[in-house]
Amino acid sequence: MNIDVDKILETGAKVVDSAKKTAVELAQKGKKQVDLLDAQAKKSKAERQLGALVYSLAKNGEENELLVKKYIDAIAAIEADIEELRKEVPAEEQPCEAPAETEAPTAPEACAETAKKTCPQCGAEVEEDALFCNGCGAQL
Ligand SMILES: [Zn+2]
Repeated sequence: MNIDVDKILETGAKVVDSAKKTAVELAQKGKKQVDLLDAQAKKSKAERQLGALVYSLAKNGEENELLVKKYIDAIAAIEADIEELRKEVPAEEQPCEAPAETEAPTAPEACAETAKKTCPQCGAEVEEDALFCNGCGAQL
């Protein structure tokens, strides 16, 4: 029997290589999907924050065009990211446009536990996940 060891080794190496490559490709594709989901979640969060800001400004008869513009710019940047990611994730694997609002109404005790943080620029109390300070507009 004449076994071509080199050939077997070569074939084996090729199989390992392609398996490795597929795993990496899958991982990269998965990461893009995660990035896309992240970006969509970030966008809806920023939109909610902008909505809350505009509401509180309007309610108090105030204007803060600069801060509103900052939010709009931030959301536009996230939208651009989403567009880029969309091109890289196959259509059938894309998460739906608007993730369902799964957050349950916050229980009173959970509200009390919500940690408030303060703006490093002006010391104003800001929401934990706010993008910008409502007081001075600093990026948080
Ligand atoms: Zn501030």
